[in-house]
Amino acid sequence: MTGYVRAFGDGSRDMAALLGGKGAGLAEMTRLGLPVPPGFTVTTDACRVWLKTGEEPPGLSAETALAMARLERAMGRRLGAADDPLLVSVRSGAPFSMPGMMDTILDIGLNDTSVIGLAEATGQERFAWDSYRRLVQMFGHVVLGVDAHLFEQAIAARTARRGTHDEHALDAAEVAALTDEFKSIVRRETGEDFPQDPGEQLTRAVRAVFASWNSERARVYRRREHIPDDLGTAVNVQAMVFGNLGADSGTGVAFTRDPATGAPGLYGDYLPDAQGEDVVSGVRDTVPLTELRRIAPRVHHQLGDHLRTLERHYRDLCDVEFTVERGRLWILQTRIGKRTAEAAFRIAHDLSEEGTISADEALARVDGAGLTRLMFPRFATPDDTPLARGVPASPGAAVGAAVFDSAEAVRRAAAGEPAVLVRRETSPDDLPGMIAARAVLTSRGGKTSHAAVVARGMGRVCVCGADTLDVDTARRRFTTADGVVVHEGDTLSVDGTAGTVHLGALPLTTSDVGQALATGTADGPLTEAVLAALAHADAVRRLEVRANADTPEDAVRARALGAQGIGLCRTEHMFLGERRTLVEQLILARDDTAREQALAALLPLQRADFTGILAAMDGLPVTVRLIDPPLHEFLPDRTRLAVRLARSPDPDPHDRALLDAVERMREQNPMLGLRGVRLGLAVPGLTAMQVRALAEAVVQRRRDGGRPRPEIMIPLVGTVEELRLARAEAERVLAEVAAEAGLPEHDLDCPVGTMIELPRAALTAGRLAEVADFFSFGTNDLTQTTWGLSRDDAEASFLPLYLERGVLAVSPFETIDEEGVGRLVELAVAEGRAAAPRLETGVCGEHGGDPASVHFFHRAGLDYVSCSPFRVPAARLEAGRAAL
Ligand code: ADP
Ligand code: MG
Ligand code: MG
Repeated sequence: MTGYVRAFGDGSRDMAALLGGKGAGLAEMTRLGLPVPPGFTVTTDACRVWLKTGEEPPGLSAETALAMARLERAMGRRLGAADDPLLVSVRSGAPFSMPGMMDTILDIGLNDTSVIGLAEATGQERFAWDSYRRLVQMFGHVVLGVDAHLFEQAIAARTARRGTHDEHALDAAEVAALTDEFKSIVRRETGEDFPQDPGEQLTRAVRAVFASWNSERARVYRRREHIPDDLGTAVNVQAMVFGNLGADSGTGVAFTRDPATGAPGLYGDYLPDAQGEDVVSGVRDTVPLTELRRIAPRVHHQLGDHLRTLERHYRDLCDVEFTVERGRLWILQTRIGKRTAEAAFRIAHDLSEEGTISADEALARVDGAGLTRLMFPRFATPDDTPLARGVPASPGAAVGAAVFDSAEAVRRAAAGEPAVLVRRETSPDDLPGMIAARAVLTSRGGKTSHAAVVARGMGRVCVCGADTLDVDTARRRFTTADGVVVHEGDTLSVDGTAGTVHLGALPLTTSDVGQALATGTADGPLTEAVLAALAHADAVRRLEVRANADTPEDAVRARALGAQGIGLCRTEHMFLGERRTLVEQLILARDDTAREQALAALLPLQRADFTGILAAMDGLPVTVRLIDPPLHEFLPDRTRLAVRLARSPDPDPHDRALLDAVERMREQNPMLGLRGVRLGLAVPGLTAMQVRALAEAVVQRRRDGGRPRPEIMIPLVGTVEELRLARAEAERVLAEVAAEAGLPEHDLDCPVGTMIELPRAALTAGRLAEVADFFSFGTNDLTQTTWGLSRDDAEASFLPLYLERGVLAVSPFETIDEEGVGRLVELAVAEGRAAAPRLETGVCGEHGGDPASVHFFHRAGLDYVSCSPFRVPAARLEAGRAAL
């Protein structure tokens, strides 16, 4: 059998594209000899045919029947037979893990007669009816599209009559009656009877799993995780085993290590007398695995053995779903476990220390985004009086307004308001809200509940199972054990590391990882793992990492975080604050003398700034960009000025002059206007003042025994002539200051380079390289000018729409557009280097700190990336990973 169906024994772990992750895992475990209930996989090929044509591929039903017949032979039982029936589950399983996003149907094969057979074979009547009840419910909802609430209401009504909330209180006869009621609901809602033919149940269940690939929640999940829409899902048909056959049965989830912290040792949840789903949905409270060791030591021991086998085999953290049927252990699923960033670092480090993986592999398994998350602040002082405690399911600190449903979280996030999503438990329908919220808080479920698994996967802060909270979704509030009522909109602080939730906004402070990075010393297993990963990244990376820093304080911080210099020092920041009046004087100057006076007043201030920055980066390159934005940005707002003048009985002549200047300098498209090198050429003395300030700072630093390494960078160059003029001016001033300081003429000469942030600059890179010592790609502006759009305007208008409609997969301002902007970068590097082989190249736009972009810049052969100080560690890590 090789077509669309494969027995579990007939595949392996590297076949996830065809068998789905779950099918490949089942196949691999079967090959390893682990106790897996037998079954077969309908491949993603079949699903893709179905998705494309709406029809099952020819031959599929015959192949399925054949596989089913083999399964029946192996089990010695027949699907849905009147006595001792074989039952199967029909389980979705996509090539990439999409936990809980698609559908699975259990207990296929039960009908009005086989339910009796099952009761007799197991000796458990209630169990048999409960299984049938579950089948009608799942099949009714998933396959026949019946509203799930109708079934829930029917359960609630029946349990209420018994004076309880707990369906376990219902006896066999009552569950049988409930099953009948479910069947009537199906008939009433769909006009057809629940199908009694086991073969028909199977076929239709397989088709429904195919269809669940395109459910709304599955699509949302894929979009977020960048999983292509056309992969399709595989379907696994597997003999049922039962964890709900009494006290010697049960079901659970186990990890080879703790997926939240990475700490070594078996970790998981167990639920006695229950079916698999009960654990994941979080509707019943689980016990830790240590409890299983107490209840069934032999099973616990076997589970440990199997997990060790899997971890050794996969050489990574694995998790499994398992079920114990009357003392017999079955493994139902395995995969490489999702983990927090913290666990990722710790596990990679531990596995590499244990010799299981190499240092390169360890580095490949962590990433910059995770590192950045670990650097996020934590709550400053422990608050001993939380509203409630729960399970620390996904670490971090988050502050936001309490909201009680997904839609409200989405609405608030769209309005820029941080939210904390509070639910009793989450279901896949809550996914949009979990994406939008800063944190997720639930009152039920453990570390392996839906909320916990999904939050960890997304890096959302999560506390779950805070069981003293009474969550009242309908009235949009929850009540604590002490009777405190928290309403929608109230501010909460959620500590996913401690597992606590607090009223109000707690103050934040540096995280342990942030601290360790700044000081270079580890104080525990996590920080040790992070420093080890960075050390290895530093050893293997080719790209240098510099920082964008405009002040001595930023420079100090950047250097502590590992920056190898400053790739962008924006000088316009030095024109703000109290210095605005000096800039106003410069702009209002009517003659050379007035202008020179204004410049002369700015000079010492700017010199002091440079001196501080050069000192902070002593011995490392500091790339100073001459002033870039249009000067009117330093003037007061036009409307406010006009109003002030109009209201004043005695208008201030200075204000009037200012308003004139503002109006004179107003541009339709300031982004494309008088800025960058254009400004330096248009305002006499401006470039000279800035270069002089820098040169004098260098002289001073040298006198103080420092090793200043300045570089001068000219912004927004479009033609080599601009660069030639600016460079000549700079060199004239450098020579002048050298002479004043009694130094040789060229003693203060330093590299002079250009930014590449206009397509014309990239296209004429060969010419520019004749005059430039280095290129620095200003990828923010280069993206704006290549796309012909203004970032701020686009982000406020059509960019979100483009992302939603899939016109763009990711904002080109977040991750470099390789195809367009990237091509200009590659071209400029190639032609620049051809003209000047020693040309240095780097990036100073924010893309320099974006993980995906860093990989591109590595491939493009740049010498360095420069990014904000906070992103330097992530850039180092990614530069290392890019070099693997
Ligand atoms: P998901 O991908 O959402 O985890 P699964 O296919 O793993 O869905 O199934 C959902 C639940 O049903 C799981 O907890 C699993 O353990 C349980 N389950 C699936 N197949 C079987 C089976 N053959 N016997 C017993 N339990 C099963
Ligand atoms: Mg599963
Ligand atoms: Mg720019």
